[in-house]
Amino acid sequence: MLLSIENLYVKYGNIEALHGLSFHVNEGEIVTLIGANGAGKSTTLKSIMRLPPPEAPKVSGGDILFKGKSLLNVEPHDVVSKLHIALVPEGRHIFGNLTVMENLMLATYARKNDPAISRDLERIFDLFPRLAERRTQRSDTLSGGEQQMLAVGRALMTSCEVLLLDEPSMGLAPLLMYEMFRTLKELNREGLTIIVVEQNARLALQVASRGYVLDTGEIVAQGPSDALLNDPEVKKAYLGG
Ligand code: ATP
Repeated sequence: MLLSIENLYVKYGNIEALHGLSFHVNEGEIVTLIGANGAGKSTTLKSIMRLPPPEAPKVSGGDILFKGKSLLNVEPHDVVSKLHIALVPEGRHIFGNLTVMENLMLATYARKNDPAISRDLERIFDLFPRLAERRTQRSDTLSGGEQQMLAVGRALMTSCEVLLLDEPSMGLAPLLMYEMFRTLKELNREGLTIIVVEQNARLALQVASRGYVLDTGEIVAQGPSDALLNDPEVKKAYLGG
């Protein structure tokens, strides 16, 4: 077990957003968290990244274990640079006034003179040829789909072993959505462990090996993706009948 969320309670001020959440991710898996708006999916990812308030809430109970050790006292920058966990946040948050290349290279700041940086850059340009063509373009002039590719590319440039993605399909045309998920599957085949939060539950369950359904801060269903895709309750509530 690579990452284990154990009976996690978290609060924004006095309001509890997660009420005893438990789930785990094994090395090399793609796991998806699905659920309605406000269920606590983003909160869960932000808690793993140890983002400070107000972005992430305070943990008031339970634990987050990575390779068996608690993450709760790890600094956010160490989560990225020492534990090699990276987040593609909802809404991308790329630096619009910087070029594609500058956004990608910013993510390598903590890697100093790691000789693998240029290899990783080539790999990202292989995965997303559109970024290669636009490497000197200001990022705020990219299309929504290209910005999402850049957000994923930037996370990969941290040399992550675990990638968390918050709504990667948001705002993408169907073809780009499928392409994005195909790319995630390819990265996973190369060894990347992935946790993906998605509104498009059907698509997410098609690439993930397992899924968890969140409802108002709790897990209400879980299982292999096939089982969730065929579960009448899950179908009715999250897969459009
Ligand atoms: P969505 O699919 O709409 O992004 P979500 O499942 O990711 O939803 P969260 O964003 O994790 O849900 O929100 C969980 C709960 O925590 C919601 O009730 C939300 O209003 C609340 N919440 C989220 N961020 C904050 C914040 N910074 N301050 C206060 N409450 C927050």
